Amino acid sequence: MAGHALLSASGAARWINCPPSARLTEKMPDKGSSYADEGTVAHKLAEIKLRRNLTVCNSKQREVLDKELEQVKQDQYYNSEMEHTIQEYVEQVAERFMEAKARSEDAQILLEERIDLSEWVPESFGTCDVVIISEGVLEVIDLKYGQGVPVSAEGNPQIRLYGLGAWNEYSYLYDISEVRMTIIQPRRDDISTEVLPIDELLEWADNEVRPAAQLAFDGKGDFSSGDHCKWCLAKANCKARADKNTEPLSYQFKDPALLTIDEISAILFIADQLQAWAKNVKDFAYDQALAGVVIPQWKLVEGKSDRAFKDAEAAKSALLAAEFTLDQIMKPQEMLSISALEKKHGKKTIAGVLKDLIIKPPGKPALAPETDRRPKLNSAENDFADIEMEDLL
Ligand code: SF4
Repeated sequence: MAGHALLSASGAARWINCPPSARLTEKMPDKGSSYADEGTVAHKLAEIKLRRNLTVCNSKQREVLDKELEQVKQDQYYNSEMEHTIQEYVEQVAERFMEAKARSEDAQILLEERIDLSEWVPESFGTCDVVIISEGVLEVIDLKYGQGVPVSAEGNPQIRLYGLGAWNEYSYLYDISEVRMTIIQPRRDDISTEVLPIDELLEWADNEVRPAAQLAFDGKGDFSSGDHCKWCLAKANCKARADKNTEPLSYQFKDPALLTIDEISAILFIADQLQAWAKNVKDFAYDQALAGVVIPQWKLVEGKSDRAFKDAEAAKSALLAAEFTLDQIMKPQEMLSISALEKKHGKKTIAGVLKDLIIKPPGKPALAPETDRRPKLNSAENDFADIEMEDLL
């Protein structure tokens, strides 16, 4: 089997929504990223810690794990923040395993399990971080080490496929009626779980996954752009995405001089999408130009740069020799920010020491779509309406 499936579980949101993207991008080089490399190290650390803490190891296996741990600790991405956040993740997984053991004493935990998905998705497989099997309930857990983008388990095709594949693989062990699919993002302090009866999960697999997977495998279906494009290797030069994003430019605005508030509302919906797409196109063009491709009417030029000391120690000596005092040339020692303290010493430790000394002032108002989970802030109009209502009472 190849190391990476054409229709991988991690790419499922993309190929389910845009089936032909799978064949379009299959030969495109994936440059990877430092975030992905950092995530790989965090996953390795998590696996080692989970094996040491939650599985039975003989002395030889323990020795191997110790060696692997030493290797992880030498990695450029390993740091105290990773140590603390992965430890928190391990504790959360342990809690869930204990819950499963409370349901059935012989509950099992499996780590880094290769899951076969070919029953629904041609030639597909994936690796699930954690599978916990107990009487009646199967839980799959996926660690997301990134902190930039929140990832919800609700309706998430990747974790659903892991749940489905794990059920298919292990349902002979127990009578499983419910599948729990959990995503843990320890750096965002976020745990999200979707719970589905197995019948509902199978219905989704048969009605949505299987037909989309067949289209994707055959290179058929319609291109369809959306949020899923951000993970697509064709995101910068895909014609369908460009067409969709430039569609509003041909929109016939009714008022000749000014946009109406309804037209502004429609533009706001695509503004983020346009911004992300513009960045993808710019990055792509930049890489092409660096590789020697001539882009008509564009050229590479030297960018801005900041001045720097040729030799910082020599500059300091020169300033002191010129009778500047240390206070005049050095920054006073500043306390680290809350996040920096947490990164260095762990969230739990800092929360314990500073429990009553951390406040969260109200954030600046931000414009968000109506579907946003945060409650609506009171506008001046609403405040006025409240006063009127109070006056009437
Ligand atoms: S960029 Fe979007 S629309 Fe284009 S192929 Fe990829 S997923 Fe499909």
